Amino acid sequence: MAGEPQTDCLFCKIVSGDIPATIVRESDTTVAFRDINPQAPTHVLVIPKVHYPDAASLAAAEPQIAADVLHEAGAVAADEKVDSTGYRIILNTGSGAGQTVFHAHAHVLGGRGLQWPPG
Ligand code: ADP
Repeated sequence: MAGEPQTDCLFCKIVSGDIPATIVRESDTTVAFRDINPQAPTHVLVIPKVHYPDAASLAAAEPQIAADVLHEAGAVAADEKVDSTGYRIILNTGSGAGQTVFHAHAHVLGGRGLQWPPG
């Protein structure tokens, strides 16, 4: 069922604690943890605790939780002190855009110069 934990989902296992992660923030609806393969000095993933395959399907079904993810992404940037220098929130959607984990997640990247457009 939509939103229910998926047995084969890596990020659902991080939410349940079955797979360890370096958690930096947690709210009633979200978890934020360090990316295992960081692409910048700050590279944190913010995920909803509920399972939706991408950000758009999360926003369609649970708009408040989608807003919570964005709120927490901003809070991570402030915690990491990258809010003053600039940071990026990325929502890769679909394999053609590089999405590899199909549980909605926001990348928060900062702590170095970021080029535009991304590759
Ligand atoms: P991409 O792999 O192209 O960045 P996604 O947007 O789907 O695609 O991002 C998935 C992210 O999850 C990757 O940055 C990857 O390094 C990260 N990741 C994978 N496994 C773990 C894990 N166990 N703990 C933390 N981050 C992870």
